[in-house]
Amino acid sequence: MINIPSADVRSNGSSADEILRVENLHVHFPVTKGILVKKQVGSVKAVDGVSFSLRRGETLGLVGESGCGKSTTGLALIHMLAATGGRILFEGDDITSFSKAQVKDFHRRVQMVYQDPYGSLNPRMTVSDIIGEPLEVHGLDKDRARYRARIAELLDLVGLAPYMADRYPHEFSGGQRQRIGIARALALEPSLIVCDEPVSALDVSIQAQVVNVFMELQRRLGLTFIFIAHDLAVVRHISDRIAVMYLGRIVEIAPRDELYSNPLHPYTSALLSAVPVADVETEAKRARIIVKGEVPSPLNPPSGCRFHPRCPMAMDKCKNEIPALSDQGSGRIVACHLHP
Ligand code: SF4
Repeated sequence: MINIPSADVRSNGSSADEILRVENLHVHFPVTKGILVKKQVGSVKAVDGVSFSLRRGETLGLVGESGCGKSTTGLALIHMLAATGGRILFEGDDITSFSKAQVKDFHRRVQMVYQDPYGSLNPRMTVSDIIGEPLEVHGLDKDRARYRARIAELLDLVGLAPYMADRYPHEFSGGQRQRIGIARALALEPSLIVCDEPVSALDVSIQAQVVNVFMELQRRLGLTFIFIAHDLAVVRHISDRIAVMYLGRIVEIAPRDELYSNPLHPYTSALLSAVPVADVETEAKRARIIVKGEVPSPLNPPSGCRFHPRCPMAMDKCKNEIPALSDQGSGRIVACHLHP
């Protein structure tokens, strides 16, 4: 487990302005065989020892290829998937040991915005009912006039007009639907929102608009975000820090500008080399780092450094020795034998 630097450490290891601390998180799924008698023959190690902390008001980008465990991490953080190991401290309390009543209260304070703005909204419900559903579930704002006023306020917050409250999802564009999803997440005034690929289903021209909605909300409401994406270009504008995941583990965490200007982990370098640059001349001179092969199965991950079969810098020791996350100073942490 990495030593995450923090000021004013409490007895449980968290610090005063830390909203979230994840320690050695594991989410494994059993793989079984047999029809009548099921026998466990292995486990998919979707998340395998993830640690990081998050300050109040901060946005952490969580990036990596499909299948790296970033969405599973997000679901564990909001208690939608059970952790099979480690601790998740939210405002100092370990959510992995919460009772049902505590989980319900926790879901008022932590919300998720989903990837698919088409599939995540019930087509038979009006926008007002969709956004107000969390208020109903938690028995809040039973007064109809106050309820309507709250829906209008939430629509306004995400840049939609209050008169749209009585319309149905099919009457909106993809970008507008995602704004509705964001308004629903805001209904209970959460302090942390986990956004799982919130713009990847949208046209590129709309993505920036929705990212701007998130940034404006953060400025106005002081929200804390975890922004999950497979594309480093998307998280660049919104993130204060970025964590890069590969095959169930974090391989590098760094403040945004440091990560983009000087990536330390070969996998981060490869991901960044695929991000297009606006300047045509610079783009023409840039060398793209091609990572060979596919992401290996999390059922049977490679020994040593999990990236070694694909790494252009791999050395002999990479095949056998797991690189520990090492503190490189200035908030940078990296797991690679090139940076002990
Ligand atoms: Fe590449 Fe070795 Fe570093 Fe892994 S530890 S990223 S294989 S150089």
